[in-house]
Amino acid sequence: MSEAPSPAHAVEVNVAAPLALLAEVTHRCPLRCPYCSNPLELDRASRELATADWIRVFGEAAALGVLQVHFSGGEPMARRDLVALVAHAARAGLYTNLITSGVLFDRAKMAELAAAGLNHVQLSFQDSEADNADRIAGLDGAHDKKLTAAALVREAGLPLTLNAVMHRQNLDHLPSVIDLAVRLGAQRLEVAHVQYYGWAIPNRRALFPTYEALERATVIVDAARERLKGVLTIDYVVPDYYARRPKACMGGWARQFINVSPAGKALPCHAAETLPGFDWPSLTTTSLSDAWYRSDAFNRYRGTEWMPEPCRSCDRREIDWGGCRCQAFAFTGDASRTDPACALAPDRPILDAARADALGPATDFVYRQIGGAPGA
Ligand code: SF4
Ligand code: SF4
Repeated sequence: MSEAPSPAHAVEVNVAAPLALLAEVTHRCPLRCPYCSNPLELDRASRELATADWIRVFGEAAALGVLQVHFSGGEPMARRDLVALVAHAARAGLYTNLITSGVLFDRAKMAELAAAGLNHVQLSFQDSEADNADRIAGLDGAHDKKLTAAALVREAGLPLTLNAVMHRQNLDHLPSVIDLAVRLGAQRLEVAHVQYYGWAIPNRRALFPTYEALERATVIVDAARERLKGVLTIDYVVPDYYARRPKACMGGWARQFINVSPAGKALPCHAAETLPGFDWPSLTTTSLSDAWYRSDAFNRYRGTEWMPEPCRSCDRREIDWGGCRCQAFAFTGDASRTDPACALAPDRPILDAARADALGPATDFVYRQIGGAPGA
């Protein structure tokens, strides 16, 4: 039963409960992916929410009407209390999904997680070829550990999704990435072109594909979807920089998802912490319900009232919700502008210039690290 806002406090009427909670339980990760969507300023272990706080948050989420919790990070398995957290979330009635790099898996841990009530595992791969995968991940031996993790998930009888982030340094291997997903027994594969947030921004030139390469990838995905009907479902995410219209980022600001950072800040998406001028609710002092229904941060870009033209009078305003606020801010310095990923946006020339720059000669990777990107 979802908790309804009291009319006396609700800033916006008709706000539904969030569907899913993205629990970023830590920013720690043994990998150093150059497209990591974590912020450049990573939360240190000493700032992470304590076990008891997470357990309270899961109880509040279930009371609020949340259906699923995605354990994410960083690498959620870096938390020693992960099994306990999964057990409490499952006991609260939440569907539990572990989003993991797989490099900290072993048979005993898999068994403990399954016994705790874990429902699903989403495992990331950097490539189908070990050497290139390890180079992209910044960790020798990572790929082989992921292969082992996939086998353990299937052995435990849990459904498996593979996530493959694609870019100019692995896109030629897309057919073998699809084969890998089938071979490992995944039911679903996410082929996700890099989205340019977090660490992907200083790595834009190292990652950005040509339009021709993107078109080839789309043809490959379409053919594989047809060929693998009933075997593998393929989700496909294209880069915003080639889009004519923006994506409905997170299904719209504070409409479906609530994200909790390792330090306990409630956010409408994992990238929102980059936006200045917000007092993000801290779940050490604020309830999840107050954060969702009553905080200025969650209400500021909800719905359509905040929209400038051309969104305000556009017939797609309740389809894409004006695009991504973080991308609008990254390009224009103003989060309330129309997302420049829209060809109708007055600021579209800024995105076009960024795309032209991103297509320049490839640079070396700037690997993710504590302390931020050098020179950023
Ligand atoms: S994208 Fe890579 S570095 Fe970032 S959390 Fe995932 S596995 Fe770790
Ligand atoms: S003008 Fe605004 S609402 Fe219309 S398509 Fe572009 S971003 Fe979406």
